[in-house]
Amino acid sequence: MCELKRIIAREIRNAGPISIARYMEICMHNEEYGYYSKKNPIGAEGDFITSPEISQMFGELIGLWLIQVWLEHGAPKPFSLIELGPGRGTLMADILRSSSIIPSFKLNASIILLEKSETLTIIQRKSLQGFNITWHKNIEDIDSKPLFVVANEFFDALPIRQFIKKENKCFERMINIKENEKLFFCLQEIDLAESHRLPFYFIERDKVFETCEQTRQIVSKVSKNICAYGGAGLFIDYGHYGQQGDSLQAIFKHTYSDPLSNPGSSDLTAHVDFRAIEDIATATGARTSKLFTQGNFLTALGIDLRAKKLEKMMTTKQKINNTIAKNRLIKQDKMGHLFKVIGLTNQSAPKLPILET
Ligand code: SAH
Repeated sequence: MCELKRIIAREIRNAGPISIARYMEICMHNEEYGYYSKKNPIGAEGDFITSPEISQMFGELIGLWLIQVWLEHGAPKPFSLIELGPGRGTLMADILRSSSIIPSFKLNASIILLEKSETLTIIQRKSLQGFNITWHKNIEDIDSKPLFVVANEFFDALPIRQFIKKENKCFERMINIKENEKLFFCLQEIDLAESHRLPFYFIERDKVFETCEQTRQIVSKVSKNICAYGGAGLFIDYGHYGQQGDSLQAIFKHTYSDPLSNPGSSDLTAHVDFRAIEDIATATGARTSKLFTQGNFLTALGIDLRAKKLEKMMTTKQKINNTIAKNRLIKQDKMGHLFKVIGLTNQSAPKLPILET
């Protein structure tokens, strides 16, 4: 049995079944054996590949969108440019490169990366060499300044809890262990006080309903600061709008696997509920945009033009690869439809380009 499984088994045997959130926390962030602590999971050699790793066009276009928003907001100075969960640092590097057209953007930005993994922090330090960057592990530590925030495939990585309503009782889906050391899901009735904090009216019987406490904390803090000091946020992730059902998934070496197998070695994620993000942000007084698909957003930002411009300097083979990468980002059957984009800003801010026009 691997070390991480031993840690999980010990915790369950000592204190009883653990929540899915606790399981995800141990699997992803255990300091010695957690998924993000051990190696670099992102990219062709890792378990999954993200949009900024597929093509530089992704980060460049997001960068131009952010600069446009910053300009339309009156180019506030100084301001924080924040990325949540920056992985290898590729998206931020592409944003900063594309910002060269408006030098005052980079000059006045305090760059902040919210990152929990020491391993990935080291990689980000290398990708972003030469920039003055502050790393935070806790969103509560961000400054009281205008903030422009971006996150790609961040919220899907945060630990979720799952609940099921049966008759008039509510249960949490927990993880237990058998005599033979096999992990399995079980249901544990939750107390009435806790069930009242869930949108009971909304939960359909026998369907899984997912919540994410860290998403609540982070979106709430970011939205409050945007309301108080100005700025905007752009969140991109795969997900849905208020659907119910079990979306916990594990990716092991680029293929789906059982979330309870290979703890610490497979990437555990859940689909992001953009309705929950919208509810959390609007409860603080922020304004959210409508939900766009990644395909529509990147197309509206001019990915076709950008691809053509890049292709002028490319060999035939590079051109083919560039088209493949572009299609991967925007086509319905690839990342174009499942991946969604939402923007947020404060009530008095101008309309967000593309997302609110
Ligand atoms: N945005 C990147 C990486 C996505 S992977 C990309 O598009 O390539 C998820 C990232 O979020 C990793 O950098 C991971 O270490 C970080 N992360 C996960 N949980 C976190 C948490 N609770 N706080 C801060 N960072 C976290």
